[in-house]
Amino acid sequence: MASALQTLPCFLRMCQLSPPPRPSISFPYSSSSFSRTSQSNGRLVSRRVKAAAASSSSATAADVRELKDGIAEFYDESSGIWENIWGEHMHHGFYDPGTEVSGSDHRGAQIRMIEESLRFAGISEDGANKPKRIVDVGCGIGGSSRYLAKKYGAQCQGITLSPVQADRANALAEAQGLADKVSFRVADALNQPFPDEQFDLVWSMESGEHMPDKSKFVNELVRVAAPGGTIIIVTWCHRDLGPSEESLQPWEKDLLKRICDAYYLPDWCSTSDYVKLFQSLSFQEIKTDDWSKHVAPFWPAVIRSAMTWKGFTSLLGSGLKTIKGALVMPLMIQGYQKGVIKFSIITCRKPPQ
Ligand code: SAH
Repeated sequence: MASALQTLPCFLRMCQLSPPPRPSISFPYSSSSFSRTSQSNGRLVSRRVKAAAASSSSATAADVRELKDGIAEFYDESSGIWENIWGEHMHHGFYDPGTEVSGSDHRGAQIRMIEESLRFAGISEDGANKPKRIVDVGCGIGGSSRYLAKKYGAQCQGITLSPVQADRANALAEAQGLADKVSFRVADALNQPFPDEQFDLVWSMESGEHMPDKSKFVNELVRVAAPGGTIIIVTWCHRDLGPSEESLQPWEKDLLKRICDAYYLPDWCSTSDYVKLFQSLSFQEIKTDDWSKHVAPFWPAVIRSAMTWKGFTSLLGSGLKTIKGALVMPLMIQGYQKGVIKFSIITCRKPPQ
């Protein structure tokens, strides 16, 4: 079981059976989209969000629908196997660079990823200021939500595209005595079923890479955040472009395309693209970090665990295309080693009213 925990959901992303369309991301927040002002406040941000949300995306509606259906189907089909092998957290672990990691350390590393993210964002642990209302955007089977609800005594709502995940997340909440604290439903992160300004912590752990329109994604995170609330995005990005670069190198694009084709992802963006989106909303206190070195042991562990009996038989049971998808795993390692892929955290605070 311990070695199985090394293999996380990212591995499962490789197991999709047919490549989805890869809509381009769009950034309607060009500097000309909004008049600049130094008097940023919650209401202003809210108006800007609504205006920008109406902007069009370069991806067609049919492309986006097809991608969403594919993601939902993929997680519907795979989540039971994932949980059986890897447990309730579907994200990378956080490791000290250069340390040896044994099989049993990986679950702890996943919890550490949550804790390091909270610490980086400066989330308060004290009674009056700790989060009370949390949204888990792209919640998987709710591992983060339940952890955060227990840690802070907070109310937490999770959304996922997968009905199977939402049902399982609710069942686990019930089984753990948390049904009055956490709830999960099927909903789109790009059109969230929540009124404005609801949550003092907006949490997105490794779901942003699935979003075909990063601008809409950020708009929605901002819209549902309460004034003074914190947004935490932990996600896969491509490297930032240099000052003289307009795009990645052809070989880099090719590497990412092969990963996208295997993992059900639309086009990627860079960490600085996220920063630009938040800056265009006059957000302050935007913080980022590159945690690629802290997740380096992860993919080799995923590959090793796929080679365990349980991993291997699960893989075989998934079919030939899944095996073909598994062969793409080394490309993630290559992407990190060559500096094309970055494991990024982006946090910011919505201006208080
Ligand atoms: N955050 C979870 C799961 C990560 S897996 C964890 O750390 O355990 C990616 C999750 O993103 C899946 O639950 C998937 O359904 C969700 N997701 C992807 N695109 C989404 C969208 N447009 N709206 C809501 N959820 C989405």
